[in-house]
Amino acid sequence: MRLGDFEVRTISGGNYWIDGGSMFGVVPRTVWTRYIAVDDKSRILQRTSCVLVRTGRENVLIDTGYGSKLTEKERSNFSSEPGEPLVESLAAAGLTVNDIDVVVLSHLHFDHAGGATRFDAAGRAVPTFPKATYVVQRHEWATANAEYPELRAAYHLPNFVPLKEAGQLRLIDGNVEIVPGLRAWVTGGHTEAHQSIVIESGGEGAIYLGDVCPTFRHLPSLWCIAYDLELLKLRRIKPEVLGTCADRGWWALCDHDPDHAAAKLRRDDKRDFAVVEALATLE
Ligand SMILES: [Zn+2]
Repeated sequence: MRLGDFEVRTISGGNYWIDGGSMFGVVPRTVWTRYIAVDDKSRILQRTSCVLVRTGRENVLIDTGYGSKLTEKERSNFSSEPGEPLVESLAAAGLTVNDIDVVVLSHLHFDHAGGATRFDAAGRAVPTFPKATYVVQRHEWATANAEYPELRAAYHLPNFVPLKEAGQLRLIDGNVEIVPGLRAWVTGGHTEAHQSIVIESGGEGAIYLGDVCPTFRHLPSLWCIAYDLELLKLRRIKPEVLGTCADRGWWALCDHDPDHAAAKLRRDDKRDFAVVEALATLE
């Protein structure tokens, strides 16, 4: 899709299945199951819709899916895709790992940062994109590396420690410009320094929501997921982010929706926001 001078495209980091209740937090099961189907293990289908932005100067990849380093047990729990779904999706778009100049990570949970590294021939985790600068919020980096016992399941060190070791890490503080036309919007909520990414070119705009609103089923401000660390903050920031899309006519880019990677939104009395127009993928 053209967005001003930019080309914006969905790059799949792979589909997976996750417990439906964990994705809808306090929303009663009888309510959320009206919006999404569950399998025989009470799981729902999730995409990892990463976004490639070709600005004309650089190729920027936003998030990397779960990658190829999951254990057998994790693969079975999530019914994740084998191989390297992210690298394969890039190949389908005519790109190799050497073509990515900048990787922006919304946060460092495994389903966003897993594809940032891969195993080399010796079985060591190394950056997947040898020429890229990886952009992470400094506070997210600190949290992920702190090895807090209570966040142990969320952060896997081999997904991101090799980025620093390779000298490819750029830590940023707050709502800074990442490259011209792309800027960070630190939302907090899902993690303390979770960032959405604002993309603007030639009078057009889009926001990569990240896990502020993981699917278009999560449009109501109160519909949070069980992994959100700061519930109240999330409920306040989500309508700001979605409202920006709705009021400006910008595309909302959703990471985990099983059906749609992008939508135009409007404000709605019942569910806070409603989808006006949705695209399965951006091509
Ligand atoms: Zn996620």
